[in-house]
Amino acid sequence: MSLITIKNYLGGQLLAPESGTYLDDHEPATGQVYARTPQSSAADLDQAVAAAEQSFPSWSTTPAEQRAQVLNRLADLIEQNQDRLARAEAIDNGKPITLAKNVDIYRAAANIRFFAQAITQFSSESHAMENVAINYTLRDPLGVVACISPWNLPLYLFTWKIAPALAVGNTVIAKPSEITPMTAYLFSELCIEAGLPAGVLNVLHGTGPAIGAPLTEHPRIKAVSFTGGSATGTLIKQATASQHKKLSLELGGKNPTLVFADCDFDRTVDEVARSAFANQGQICLCGSRIYIENDLYERFTAALVARVEQLKIGDPLDEDTQFGALVSQAHMDKVLGYIELAQQEGGTVLTGGQRLQLSGRCADGYFVQPTIIAGLDNACRTNQEEIFGPVCTVQPFSDEQQAVALANDSEYGLAASVWSQDIGRCHRLAKQLNTGIVWVNCWLLRDLRTPFGGMKASGSGREGGLEALRFFTEAKNVCIKY
Ligand code: NAD
Repeated sequence: MSLITIKNYLGGQLLAPESGTYLDDHEPATGQVYARTPQSSAADLDQAVAAAEQSFPSWSTTPAEQRAQVLNRLADLIEQNQDRLARAEAIDNGKPITLAKNVDIYRAAANIRFFAQAITQFSSESHAMENVAINYTLRDPLGVVACISPWNLPLYLFTWKIAPALAVGNTVIAKPSEITPMTAYLFSELCIEAGLPAGVLNVLHGTGPAIGAPLTEHPRIKAVSFTGGSATGTLIKQATASQHKKLSLELGGKNPTLVFADCDFDRTVDEVARSAFANQGQICLCGSRIYIENDLYERFTAALVARVEQLKIGDPLDEDTQFGALVSQAHMDKVLGYIELAQQEGGTVLTGGQRLQLSGRCADGYFVQPTIIAGLDNACRTNQEEIFGPVCTVQPFSDEQQAVALANDSEYGLAASVWSQDIGRCHRLAKQLNTGIVWVNCWLLRDLRTPFGGMKASGSGREGGLEALRFFTEAKNVCIKY
């Protein structure tokens, strides 16, 4: 099989990297190299910055409705190509193709459509000082901005960033993860087909050190919107500290799930299993610390184990697969290392715990069983560090107060879910939990208008709705005296 050669998208053209150097792109379900990814360098970056700067004056002054029209054409093209894109995402990432289609590709189109519409509704504030003056706020695009995205939801998070940036009139240099570059490449082709003006969006492929860091540090980049690990977020903060750039950092999570004895039992078992193991546990929002009220602990844990053991693990390209491969050999090794650590820390594996060897074309794939571990205290590394894989722990709690204390005992603060029929309790907990998102009797239910982001090591800044439009614009107050 000949390898697919991915190209950068630069100044409206699909180009090889200046260095002529490529990285291997593996299919996680088979372990085989199937594509080559450009390893971009400073020379590509300089060209991208020049192209983005050149296109900024016309794109930023194009009427919002016309920018929205181009973005809507792009969303149409994603929808028309949804089967091809879903298949590409499943091959590149290892996720089940049904999930890729219904979540990743569906959301990629929805992201673009949402911000295309939002920009036509975006208004700014005005503050009257009675009989003295009137203030109004101008919101202008920033210029050339960087959008850097991770591997777990490749096209979903790529579009989540570039859509608001482009909608408000910025020009963009985007860097997808080098581990899952394929759908951003296919998206570049769709940008050309949609008639996006040259240089408005530029996509540079390559590793973090080779192109991610130079991109964030480039003096003519005005803002960085980053989604990825907390350690990388720290590096970006440090590297740009003296440049006074706008930064939006969406980082890691170690999310608590609080199950009370009065929950709607069957529905909660199903949803908690989904929240722990969707996308093989590789969603920043996955609930990996599951706390269960004492009275329900044994019954709920048994039902959760039984539910998880029913998951159909298999070839991501089979329509009925519910649980696919982990994204890479390195990530699989990391996850297996944590399962070993959990046992050294005194944990008991209730289900899973092993690498899974499938037959046929997936024999060498990176599959790990969905794993539930009991018997660990909250302070151990297994319960404090982000594993970002199909591993969760269960712990009992005695009352509401202890549940909150356990949930908040983490350096992360991205998302929490609460499962209870007591509405008063749900309100109390929503207020007390130190996370940017609290889901009550649901998980990953998303309204794109809501603020999205984390506290503490889970990041700074918020995405979504108005927050994103505000991040990608500079506010200027004009005060006019009567
Ligand atoms: P990562 O931090 O390793 O990489 C993310 C992106 O940053 C990649 O494109 C990578 O090439 C690039 N990068 C790496 N080093 C860089 C540097 N020094 N400067 C600039 N860019 C650099 O993360 P990952 O392993 O791809 O993704 C997994 C992490 O992402 C997990 O921690 C997960 O929780 C987090 N995540 C967070 C959210 C959220 O919304 N909060 C969403 C998805 C994933």
